[in-house]
Amino acid sequence: MDVEARKKALRFMFRQVVEPLGYKFTPDEDTADFCLGQEVRLEQKHGVPYCPCQGLTKDHKHNIRIICPCIPYHREHFDYMKMCWCGLYVHKDVTDPGRLRQIPYEEFLKRTGRKP
Ligand code: SF4
Repeated sequence: MDVEARKKALRFMFRQVVEPLGYKFTPDEDTADFCLGQEVRLEQKHGVPYCPCQGLTKDHKHNIRIICPCIPYHREHFDYMKMCWCGLYVHKDVTDPGRLRQIPYEEFLKRTGRKP
């Protein structure tokens, strides 16, 4: 399957997963297209559409948690930012994703008083 066709297929599949979680694809089409393209390449290389923004390690447990869409594993953190780490998905009410910022996990814990 070529890259464009696979991006389209991933969009279809991922939408079914993220919508019930309160997320949608970012309206920033350049970001969405770039992230999906990177995921297709990672999938071609590793067999799995890993996150394009979080590094793979030798730790299988870590790697499982960064298969897209990884929202269920990072729910509180991403809900706080109103987007996933890459910005591929945003909360459904977000119309201007350019206003959102990545907040490192440690900073999120500090701000909210949550425990890891
Ligand atoms: S941070 Fe976003 S793009 Fe990256 S794996 Fe998680 S849901 Fe997918």
